Formats: sequence, structure tokens, C-alpha cells
Amino acid sequence: MSKAGPPRHDPVPIGEVAEPPFVRLPDPKRIFAERAERFAVLASGHELASYLLFLAALCGIQHKAQDGASEPELPPADAIARAREFGMPPLDRNRFTANAEFDAVFDRLLGLAQAIEKPAAATEALARVAGADAAARDAMIRNVLADSIPAEHLADHVYAAAAMQLHFARLAARLDPAALVPIGDGVCPACGGAPVASAIVGWKGASGTRFCTCSLCATQWHVVRVKCVLCESTKGIAYQELDGGPDTVKAETCENCHGYVKLLQQQKNPQLEPVADDIATLGLDILLRENGYRRGAVNPFLLGY
Ligand SMILES: [Zn+2]
Ligand SMILES: [Zn+2]
Repeated sequence: MSKAGPPRHDPVPIGEVAEPPFVRLPDPKRIFAERAERFAVLASGHELASYLLFLAALCGIQHKAQDGASEPELPPADAIARAREFGMPPLDRNRFTANAEFDAVFDRLLGLAQAIEKPAAATEALARVAGADAAARDAMIRNVLADSIPAEHLADHVYAAAAMQLHFARLAARLDPAALVPIGDGVCPACGGAPVASAIVGWKGASGTRFCTCSLCATQWHVVRVKCVLCESTKGIAYQELDGGPDTVKAETCENCHGYVKLLQQQKNPQLEPVADDIATLGLDILLRENGYRRGAVNPFLLGY
């Protein structure tokens, strides 16, 4: 646990003292399999069913692609120490360049993707990405890392984003959590990524506290409740939900920056999964956009954002 831990004034259930860790690193052997399962559950009766089932299959191969893959290499210890000294994340996304381990994982993912059931657009995109040269691949990687995937090329970038998530989650899993320092509420302390969503967790010993999940590496970091993750304002925070939608997924809106990030009530429903439930509640994003709020979270699989 980091010494520079977060303030501990979250409301917690009476009789339980929450001692949230500052970070929880991802377990790549579990997260993609669990996400796949959640996508499949959410697909049932959903208007985006075919897309959600495709993403379930894509997460399934993110899980599978790890079999026998060599471990990605962390930056040298002195670079990690220097990053910490300057309050920077140890995995520097801006300086990422594809290497042999990443290429192998990306190729493996593209190979496995051939066999999964997918919409026609995803089949065409796969053919394009599989045939892309190094420069085109690199351009896709840059777009994913800059959180600026061109809307008209979303289908192509889905595969690159899946490969990046897998690579960065495997890297983050190897970090020393005690060596990570807070960078900011809306910034992943492992890789500098934006959150995909936040969640009130039900973890033993930390029940009722809130964590953001990184859209890239899936590291989770503690943030206090009722505070804008984007601008850190504690004033003008409100919660909106969709009529007829799940009452366990709300948008936390901020009157200071007019942004929002979703809040999942995982302590009420432990099955909620940030990436999957974010996409399944697209209707909430549409509502908030109509009301003039800016989406502050990042999800490379979210259509139209
Ligand atoms: Zn991250
Ligand atoms: Zn704000």
C-alpha cells in the first residue's frame, strides 16, 4: 500500500471500517474471462445484442491469447523510480512502441479473431487490420493511446484496442503496487489512462468505497465518493439514471465541468463490470449528451463516442 494514500472519509456501512488500498492491480487471467461472461449476460434481450456478443467473444480471445505468451517486459527499475519521483505513471503510454512481445500478442489475437462470430463490419475490419503494414498498425496504436479513435474507423481500431488492453494489463499486473503514487483522480497511476467508469465496491475491508477502473490497463485506483473524477470538484455533483434502466448504473454529473463518469453499484451487484456495463448503458450516454454533458470516460469499444 502506498504511503501517499487517499483520504479516508468515505461513508461506510456502520460497524465496518473501510481501509481501501490505493490501487488494485489487474489480474489478466481473470478480468477478460469475467468481462466476456458479463458481455454475454448483458446481450440477452439487449438492443445491441449482436455487438455485445461480438465483444464477449473478443474478450474471450483476449483471455485465450495469453496461453503460452511470453511475459511483457517492464521498463527498467531506474526508469520506474524516476517516474515515481516526478509523480508520473511507470508505464509511459506516450513512449510506447510496439515490440516483439506486443506484436506476438496482437498477431495471436488477430488469428483467434478469425474464428469468432462477428458482424459483417467486424469481419471486413479484421481483414484490413490483418493485412495492415507496420506503419498502419502503429497509427492505430497511437490513436488508441491518444484516446482519439476516428469514429469512421472504430471497427478497425477495436482489434488494436483489444491488443493494447491485453498488453498493458499484463504489464500493470507485474508492477509493485506499493511503488505507485496518485497522479490525479481521473488518471491511472499505472499507465496514465483515463477511467472507463467508477464503482462503489463490495470488497471485504473496503466495502462502500469507490474505485476507478483504467480503460487501458484495468488497474483500479481509489477515489473518494461524491467528487467529480474529472475536475475534482465536490460541488454540484448529481446522479442521473435511465428510466427503466438498471438502478445500479448511474452517471455522476458535475456542474463545474459539465462532465460525467458512470458510477456502478458493485456492492449491490458484484457482477457489474466497468467495460461491459458501460457499453450496455449507452442509452445513458445518449441522454446525457442531449442534456449537454460531456462524457469524461474512455471506452474504445463504445459506439459513437
Ligand atoms: Zn492504466
Ligand atoms: Zn467536474
